[in-house]
Amino acid sequence: MRFSRLRLTGFKSFVDPTDLIISEGLTGVVGPNGCGKSNLLEALRWVMGENRPTAMRGGGMEDVIFAGASTRPARNFAEVCLHIDNHDRLAPPGFNDEDQVEIVRRITRDVGSAYKANARDVRARDVQMLFADASTGAHSPALVRQGQISELINAKPKSRRRILEEAAGISGLYQRRHEAELK
Ligand code: ATP
Ligand code: MG
Repeated sequence: MRFSRLRLTGFKSFVDPTDLIISEGLTGVVGPNGCGKSNLLEALRWVMGENRPTAMRGGGMEDVIFAGASTRPARNFAEVCLHIDNHDRLAPPGFNDEDQVEIVRRITRDVGSAYKANARDVRARDVQMLFADASTGAHSPALVRQGQISELINAKPKSRRRILEEAAGISGLYQRRHEAELK
């Protein structure tokens, strides 16, 4: 199971549909300050179910929608589509019927977010669990934000434990246990 393409439409500075092809091996993104490198990483986090505006450097969730520029009007929605190559058939059950899994998240002004998996409507939780079961997700330690290394060095033991749990791939189980305890 491997991310193969990220498509952004109206997401932050990526107003026109933009494809980032993710080949096998290492992908580097380079460019001048403010060109949108961090926005790409945020798009990846967002499509995996990130729900904290602060993690997207915004005040509200709708701040990810293209806000307009001197020559272009603001957009009404933002959409990110993540293609996952599933030829190895290692996607978690429920998402494992196809060679390719396509996850789409769209946010519309005054409406909110909607998710699709292979064109089927799904809940945010389904998408979050898919990535948690695949040992990745919006909070994966594999996604390193700017400034995060110094945060890690200064982190309290409790926050370090959360990072270790993500790395061990058990955070999906943790959430299920919490839900079972509530029932
Ligand atoms: P650096 O090298 O400084 O880290 P970067 O390549 O990571 O820069 P980003 O932080 O990804 O750059 O992009 C910042 C740009 O995105 C800014 O120009 C900002 O105005 C623009 N931007 C962020 N949110 C929106 C939005 N909702 N609508 C339009 N533009 C936006
Ligand atoms: Mg940056």
